[in-house]
Amino acid sequence: MNWKLTVGMEIHVELETKTKMFCGCPNDPFHAAPNTNVCPVCYGLPGALPLLNKEAVMMVTRFGQALKAEVATESFWARKNYFYPDLPKGYQISQSTQPLVVRGQVTIDGVDYHLHHAHLEEDAGKLMHASDKTHSFVNYNRAGVPLLEIVTEPDFHSASSAKRFCQELQRIMRSLKISAADMEKGLMRCEANISVSQTDEKGTKVEVKNINSFRAVEKAIQYEFERQTKVLEAGEMIEHETRTWNDPESKTVVMRTKETSADYRYFPEPDLPTVSISVGRSAAHAMPEDQRQQLILWGVTDTELARTIVDRGYFDELKELYHIYVIKHPQEKKLVLAAAHTSLFEPKFMALSVEDKVALLQLSTEHGWAKETVAAIIQKALAEKKSVAEIAPEFIHGEDLGEVIQEVISAHAAAVADFKAGKEASFNFLVGQVMAKTQGRANINTVRTELQKALQ
Ligand code: ZN
Ligand code: MN
Repeated sequence: MNWKLTVGMEIHVELETKTKMFCGCPNDPFHAAPNTNVCPVCYGLPGALPLLNKEAVMMVTRFGQALKAEVATESFWARKNYFYPDLPKGYQISQSTQPLVVRGQVTIDGVDYHLHHAHLEEDAGKLMHASDKTHSFVNYNRAGVPLLEIVTEPDFHSASSAKRFCQELQRIMRSLKISAADMEKGLMRCEANISVSQTDEKGTKVEVKNINSFRAVEKAIQYEFERQTKVLEAGEMIEHETRTWNDPESKTVVMRTKETSADYRYFPEPDLPTVSISVGRSAAHAMPEDQRQQLILWGVTDTELARTIVDRGYFDELKELYHIYVIKHPQEKKLVLAAAHTSLFEPKFMALSVEDKVALLQLSTEHGWAKETVAAIIQKALAEKKSVAEIAPEFIHGEDLGEVIQEVISAHAAAVADFKAGKEASFNFLVGQVMAKTQGRANINTVRTELQKALQ
């Protein structure tokens, strides 16, 4: 029988503002000593009044605009009540009926994935349990840190597409400079709502929490798909419940039966007035997808390569190369592709000036240089602050290196035999001979690698 998987994602991202969501405490949960970035507002002490963090709201409006979403014209806050030791106030200030961001979409390789909404709230503290399980510790430095909760439509029908969405969201957060969104640090945390059915009507959904890596997003969804399919094929019903991903054992386990929003008794936050938000027209922000599509137009047609270039943040350098050079020399169209490839094995390539990039790529094609030679020239040009044109001649000489090496090998048969018998010093002797024959102009690292190859 054919079972259809449907997944919606809920993703929490900690915003990297200077201060917390509703007080002046530093937003620095990773470096400060435990429970030092706290104040009466964080603790919810009587009489302490929260104050809205403008920077956090601006980050979220930027996010909303980049995703072509509707951005709210005023902020509205609600209390979400629940008891847990990491929540000092006994409630979380969140947004229930009026999220800051409504709808919006993320496009990945031409496919659109839709947001239901994204709202701002505050994070809880962090609990740590002693390994002997006799006691627990709590650190409230994270309590009150701005947290963006992004809720998608149930647009995913494979585990891999949900994983790719989470990775894309991380790229977007980074490019908007909102958050590094590292999953291993908990700056980004994923939950998946997963259901299985045979018809277009969705099955009972199960929420899976505590998914702490991209790999786990894929594994948890795939696991649930298989588990739910088995239950349904046995003629049983799926429980509407919350499960947790157990990474070491690669399975989901029941956490609790799902609470409804009524359990949280949301009510308007009385301490925070409604603030009106006027969003100006923002300068168009280039999304990772726009950059990938642009690279393809410039000749980087390998989508995997285009993705790597964007992820490593090399897009702007390639754009510069294209605009300053390729537009004027259309016959050199392949330069962008060559530059993309070169940056992969030698990231320092991107630090060269446009002129040096062009010179290096042209010389390297002309002389058929090996990657090692190209890397060596880049390193040397940067280290000695010289242009590629100044550095290149000594390496051009190195083209005859193969010949020189063969000459040295036949002239020093005894040293070669010693080396093959395990005498390391003979290798250095042979390197010295090659260097002498090239009058020291060859790159010693290249000589070592080439000689090693020739001796094998
Ligand atoms: Zn505080
Ligand atoms: Mn939340």
